[in-house]
Amino acid sequence: MEQLIPIASKLQDVLGAVGQNTQLDLPQIVVVGGQSSGKSSVLEALVGRSFLPRGTGIVTRRPLILQLFNTRNLDTSTEEEEPGAQNLNPHGTTADNSQEWGEFLHAPNKKFYKFHEIKNEIIRETDRSTGGNKGISNDPIRLKIYSPFVLSLTVVDLPGMTKVPVGDQPENIEEQIHDMILQFISNPNAIILAVTAANTDIANSDALQLAKAADPYGNRTIGVLTKLDLMDPGTDASEVLNNQLIPLRKGYIGVVNRGQKDINEDLSIRDGLMKEEAFFKHHPVYSRDKHLLSKCGTNTLAKTLNVILMHHIRECLPDVKNRIAGMMTDVQSELEALGNADEGMSKNALGGTLLGLLSKFANNFASIIDGRGGELNNGTNSRNLALIELFGGARINYVFNDIFAPSLMSAGPFDGLTDDEIRTTIMNANGTRRALFVPEISFDILIRRQIARLEQPGIQCVDLVYEELQRIAMQAEPKELARFPFLRDRMNEVVSLLLKRCMAPTQIMVSNLVKIELAVRNA
Ligand code: GDP
Ligand code: MG
Repeated sequence: MEQLIPIASKLQDVLGAVGQNTQLDLPQIVVVGGQSSGKSSVLEALVGRSFLPRGTGIVTRRPLILQLFNTRNLDTSTEEEEPGAQNLNPHGTTADNSQEWGEFLHAPNKKFYKFHEIKNEIIRETDRSTGGNKGISNDPIRLKIYSPFVLSLTVVDLPGMTKVPVGDQPENIEEQIHDMILQFISNPNAIILAVTAANTDIANSDALQLAKAADPYGNRTIGVLTKLDLMDPGTDASEVLNNQLIPLRKGYIGVVNRGQKDINEDLSIRDGLMKEEAFFKHHPVYSRDKHLLSKCGTNTLAKTLNVILMHHIRECLPDVKNRIAGMMTDVQSELEALGNADEGMSKNALGGTLLGLLSKFANNFASIIDGRGGELNNGTNSRNLALIELFGGARINYVFNDIFAPSLMSAGPFDGLTDDEIRTTIMNANGTRRALFVPEISFDILIRRQIARLEQPGIQCVDLVYEELQRIAMQAEPKELARFPFLRDRMNEVVSLLLKRCMAPTQIMVSNLVKIELAVRNA
């Protein structure tokens, strides 16, 4: 898998450089198989680290979703070395270094630098939610491992299939585990490692049965045969490995993991791999047949996965390319919108730019009022607006002619005046005398009230025009201003303050006009 790391890292770099933080979506690797068939062992050998609890009986009792993150601080000297080669001491635990660490979702902020501590934490966390007595749980443990030596992948370790409940296990344990596994391997992005121990009959393999249910065409299932070393002397797995017994599209790979004795003796993964190689080399059947030998070994399994992942990356490439091309055009147009970027502009040049921006704003403002706003290349906004609704000068015109004028006209001379009121006013104006003609003073009193009613539409008109001017100010913004957010804020502030300051005198002017009319009547 190490060869893929640089490729995936480079891709990730490219994606990161263009501001895409989405991870390259590599497939999940999920192991399924009967209890103690060696699932955890296979995963460990693939990842190159000893941190999964293993052993006979039901050890993995909660799904473990293991996310590997490549930390990518690779320098050339470490890149060459095998994973774990220099970090693992003979006890299979890492030396104390800060290059690799694990983090659990249930214990955030805590970094585990030693892999045996990670193993203990998995055991503790499993017991915490399932009890110590073989209970199982659907709730996955999420573990992230950061290391420069791993491929950014997600690997899922699942409990093995069992038939008879033991300990605290519920009656329907078989069904529960079955459903749990199915849930993980149904994901079309999962590569299924169907693990079967070679010392059991492959025809009975639950793993193959389940894998077939989730992946009927076998496009993403790899058969893994473990414990080749434990087969009855005289028998071998050549028939299965040659894909003759129960054919799988992607075939089978035979491996030898570290046995319980090796675990008890703390054999490191590296030594385990060497032991495996020696086993195949000296085996009377496997060593003779080259074709068979090409189907054996953890390395072969890693290579096969490599090929699958490589294909996957290749499939992703067009999409990545499209995404980058799309982003390029976006960024390009944004760059154009920001105007010429002259780095290290002198003070004079800056002053010039500022003046240019301000005069552009003033021109735009005037254009919009004059009705030339539609031509403004001010983003799609104003152009669309030009088709849909009135704006700028036209709207101000509309406010005057279609809102203000009608509201004046609609104010009838007798509105709000009853005949009784008119009569009373006339009588009051006459005093003790009875008059032949209507006295002027009564007209005076009545008309004052009606004229005062003209003030309100005028004030409303001022308000509407003020609002429109605010809107024009927003639209008149030159697009180059986006580059100077502070200037833009300040300018908006100043313009809106200016408009506000102009509004008060205008309102006073309107009331004054009405007051003038009130004072001298052109009767
Ligand atoms: P799981 O329950 O499927 O996860 O299986 P484990 O990985 O926990 O392995 C169960 C037991 O089988 C452990 O004691 C392993 O050491 C042992 N084991 C797994 N694979 C092999 C193998 O290829 N050869 C030998 N000798 N023992 C193995
Ligand atoms: Mg296990």
